[in-house]
Amino acid sequence: MPAPLALICLAAHYVGTVVETPAGWALRLPDQSEVVWDDGREKSFAEALSTPDLEDTLAQPYQPGPILPVTVPDQDPGRIRSDALLAATYGGSAEAVALQSVLFLGQTVRVHPRAAQALSRVSSKLDGHMDAATAAFVTGPLGGTFMWRPIANTNRRSAHSYGIAIDISVKGSDYWEWQKSADGSVRWRNRVPQAIVAAFEAEGFIWGGRWYHYDTMHFEYRPELLDPACRLP
Ligand SMILES: [Zn+2]
Repeated sequence: MPAPLALICLAAHYVGTVVETPAGWALRLPDQSEVVWDDGREKSFAEALSTPDLEDTLAQPYQPGPILPVTVPDQDPGRIRSDALLAATYGGSAEAVALQSVLFLGQTVRVHPRAAQALSRVSSKLDGHMDAATAAFVTGPLGGTFMWRPIANTNRRSAHSYGIAIDISVKGSDYWEWQKSADGSVRWRNRVPQAIVAAFEAEGFIWGGRWYHYDTMHFEYRPELLDPACRLP
């Protein structure tokens, strides 16, 4: 059987070589460890978040385009991440993550070199093409980029730990935990303009406003999720 096309696509965006092992298809990382494509386990969403195989990280398709409310519980495309693959690609410790300065709409931010050119293109796309209300989301104080930290209330590493995420203005943003109702249900809300979302998505960044557990200031370089060749059949 040939290797899954989505795995070949994933390998092109990260470090690692597609290999066939006794346990099935996998990516062999530079340290010779292997991350399995399909571990054959049925998982709840919580299990997929904590112990994903590579296929799980692509299981929820990411849909760019017009901003729409997210009402399907646990529809969080991109929140399932392979820490092993991200650590191998970007760095497995605070010291190991290389960072590069990028001029983002007049401010210097530090991101991983693999995301730097894409972020720079987002900046060029927006620069001079925003009305004042739109510009306020990206030109004032930013939420930040690199921060070696776990996701709040979890053991999982945030995308900010790898230098591949940027939080735009906190002031105009909405976050699911700020709006959670007493019964635990989540009501999606967003104020970030379409033009900003479109500029990031065109350069391989996913947006946290596409998540049921939304985080509308959050953009994250995940080119595989915006590459149609990486979609599961
Ligand atoms: Zn963030």
